[in-house]
Amino acid sequence: MSENLPFSPPFQRLRQLALAALDALLPPRCLGSGKIVDAPGMLDAGFWGELAFVSAPACVCCGLPFSFAVAEGSLCAACIDSAPEFDKARAAVVYNDASRQLILDFKYGDKLHAVDTFLPWLRRAGAEMLADTDLMIPVPLHRRRLWQRRFNQSALLTRAIARDTGLPCLPDALCRKRHTVPQKGLSRSERHLNVRGAFAVNPRDAGQIKGKRVMIVDDVFTSGATLNECARILKKAGAAEVFVLTLARVTREEF
Ligand SMILES: [Zn+2]
Repeated sequence: MSENLPFSPPFQRLRQLALAALDALLPPRCLGSGKIVDAPGMLDAGFWGELAFVSAPACVCCGLPFSFAVAEGSLCAACIDSAPEFDKARAAVVYNDASRQLILDFKYGDKLHAVDTFLPWLRRAGAEMLADTDLMIPVPLHRRRLWQRRFNQSALLTRAIARDTGLPCLPDALCRKRHTVPQKGLSRSERHLNVRGAFAVNPRDAGQIKGKRVMIVDDVFTSGATLNECARILKKAGAAEVFVLTLARVTREEF
């Protein structure tokens, strides 16, 4: 679990204290626009307006929002074509310029405190699934990428929700067996092949997954290939149901 922490505990504590001291001295700023706001973690009204929160109607399985009215319980074309391995996926916001900026700053810009802003969005988007969840598991990063980035954004989000809901979290239950090339630029079928066999269930945790309803959490649902593969492996290990909760969702076929 310690490898998922951005800093070793003493340094993390020092860093938190330094940030708290800075917060006391500097006015809080919007995570997106940098404009001064009333409280830490708040977004200014202009930037807030650029975010598109996912709302009904949406595919009952993968959560893809529809731009037209559909009958309740409708599936999108992709889910009809090929049923995903996960049972249900939901996302808080549409992946657009504004949410992309927030997520890139969170992942690469050291804005880890953005988790506090994202938590209520995830809680709302995942409310229905969370009520049926027994166990939370993050999507793992390969060690090489973890070393480059210093923390796993999926683990950070998962732990925040687990703490908030009181649900148990198995931070190392899924592991990467091999490094995968970045999915960007690959076609849908290439993405599925790229991640096929890339994950495994940690034998130590396998017994705790059997028969459980598991939720996996990540920052962005792009083609769903990685999340689908994680779900396949968890189902193979005996998970009764697998839910997917992400901060953002790509809604067009442009990755
Ligand atoms: Zn769908």
